[in-house]
Parts: sequence; structure tokens; C-alpha cells
Amino acid sequence: MYDRIYNFAAGPSQLPLEVLEEISKDLFNYHGSGMSVMEMSHRSKDYLAIFEEVKATIKRIMNIPDNYQILFIQGGATEEFSAIPLNLLKKGKADYIITGNFSKKAAEEAKKYGEINIAYDGKEDYVHIPSQNELKLSDDADYVYICANNTVYGTEWQNYPKTRDIPLVADMSSDICSKVIDINDFGLIYAGCQKNFGIAGLGLVIIRDDLLYDNGITKPVLMDYRIQAKNDSMYNTPNTFAIYVLGLVAKWIENKGGIKELQKINEKKARLLYDIIDNSDFYKGHADKDSRSNMNITFALPDKELDELFVKEATKAGMVSLKGYRTVGGIRASIYNAMPIEAVEKLANFMKNFEKEHK
Ligand code: PMP
Repeated sequence: MYDRIYNFAAGPSQLPLEVLEEISKDLFNYHGSGMSVMEMSHRSKDYLAIFEEVKATIKRIMNIPDNYQILFIQGGATEEFSAIPLNLLKKGKADYIITGNFSKKAAEEAKKYGEINIAYDGKEDYVHIPSQNELKLSDDADYVYICANNTVYGTEWQNYPKTRDIPLVADMSSDICSKVIDINDFGLIYAGCQKNFGIAGLGLVIIRDDLLYDNGITKPVLMDYRIQAKNDSMYNTPNTFAIYVLGLVAKWIENKGGIKELQKINEKKARLLYDIIDNSDFYKGHADKDSRSNMNITFALPDKELDELFVKEATKAGMVSLKGYRTVGGIRASIYNAMPIEAVEKLANFMKNFEKEHK
């Protein structure tokens, strides 16, 4: 009806069609207010009602206990690379587990502020998620940092590291709300919202109350989680529209039966593609089998020319942004929550036919 194509981009990425329809319905006159959400004061009654409902919906779908705060922060995920050490370093040391470019960047940023122990380094090909016995965790770290899903490499933590009473901090930018997690396992989780949870320009931080301590470190006011929490993310004007869209996506998840139901669909979608990769000597998966992501499926064809032809032909068939990240090459199919199973079936069929034609 809208002449849309399937967008397999890693982020910003495809939104649920129902969410786009809701946005367009509300665009000129939100629920009889006579204005768009974009035009509302963040302190107006209409906007505050949206804001409270967004928080309540996130809390419901993710089953967030009362002793956690939900913060909306501008600056994307990268801002948290700085804000996390600035807020959480107390004794001055943290453990970082490096499984890809984003955890590496986060560790490099944190080194500006404290002593960083690299508890594991997947080195440059990042095909593997470590098991507990591969980690060299410290006893005296203020927190342990992971990237839950490595968007570029297509690896994802299945069993999070055990850190005893040291808070676990996770970058969930590319797998938030794609599977059931227990928030109690984490001290802080965060995400840039432009993949699984809305649009760019918004970071979501979920932090346990006891981590909102004063660590005595001077920090920019907007990176101070205590100030953000005290002011309910409205110390300055928040990204009102992105928060509203996040709320619509959260409602969409709820209407789909919640994260539990989406997880089943996500597993099925990923299996469709991994089954082809595993049963082929034409396609080669990038990640170790036990470390693979259900969100970003990475693989390569026998040579670069075939990779390029694959992307070109897929584009012609209405499936775009399948080119792998520049440092990895090959193909990356990002199949977040909003990617319908029909699209993944279409890609799977395309892969089978392409292999037949070009083997
Ligand atoms: N972490 C992960 C896992 C990501 O995938 C990305 C972006 N692709 C980032 C961090 C950086 O996000 P942002 O561009 O919002 O700063």
C-alpha cells in the first residue's frame, strides 16, 4: 500500500508499520490537542501524560522493578561510553570485556577516567563471546562492562557473565527488548534507541537506585545520572518526539504479546538464515556458532565480487542495506523486532536461489 521495501540496516532501521501509521495519524493533531507532539511543551499536561505512559509501558514490558530508574538521555549510546565511568567509578577501577568495536571504544573512553582492566579481549575478528572461565575479572572493580550484542560482528551474549556483587553494565543498543532478560542481573543497562526501540537522538538508561551515588568526580551536568534522575530526565528539554516514538514501539511490543512472544519470533527468524548458512558451503557465517546473534546475521560469500552482486540483486528484489560493516565485509542482515518474518523468509528464499545460480 505504501510501496515500502525491506530495510535490513543495522540502525537507524525499520520501524513497525503500525507505529508509522500511528505517528502519521497523530502528526497534525495529537488526540484532539490541536497540535503535533513535536510542538508540545515538555511540561504541558498532554506531553506529561505521554511521558508517564511511556515510562509505565517500558516498565511493564521489561518487568523493571521499582528500585530502578528509567532515564531518557540525548547523545545516543556513545554518550554513555563517557557517562558510565564518570558516574560509576568510585574506587577508580572497572572491568571491560571486549567483544567488538563498541566495547573497545567504551573501554578507551573509560581509560580517561580510571584504571581499566581488560577482562577479555576478542581481538580484531570478534567472532566469539567468552565463557565465564575465559574472563579475568578483578575483585575490586566498581563495575563490569559488556556489550550485549555486537552489531557489527553478529555476536550476542547468551549467558551473561557472573560478577558476584559487582554491578554488571550492559550496552543493549542492538538487542534491547528482543528477548527476555532479568533486569535484576544488571546494575545498569542502556541503549541508543535507533535500532530496536525507536528513532535516533535518544538514549535509554535503566539504572539501579544504589548506583546513583556521589562519586566526587566532576562531570558535565547532562551526564550526571543523579541530576537526570532527580529531574525525571527533564533537567533540560528532552527529545520529546523520540520519547513518544519509543512509547509507541513499547506499546507495539506489548500488543504483540510482549517480549516473550517476540523472542520466539526472533529465534525463528534467525534460524531461517542460520539454517541456510549451516547447510551450505557457499555461505560462510562470521561468528562462532555458540556466539551468534539473533539480531545481526553476518556471513560472507566465496568472494568479494559475489558479496557485491548479492547486495545489488537483493536491492533490486526490494531488500536493502545488506552490505556488511566496512571492517568485516560480507553481508549483514539486521533483523530487529520490527522486521517481519515474511521479510526474512523472502531473504532466505533469495539466498537459496542465489546460491543455486552462482555456485
Ligand atoms: N553500541 C552499539 C552496540 C551499537 O550498535 C552502536 C551503534 N551502531 C553504538 C553503541 C553507538 O551508538 P550511537 O551511534 O547511538 O552513539
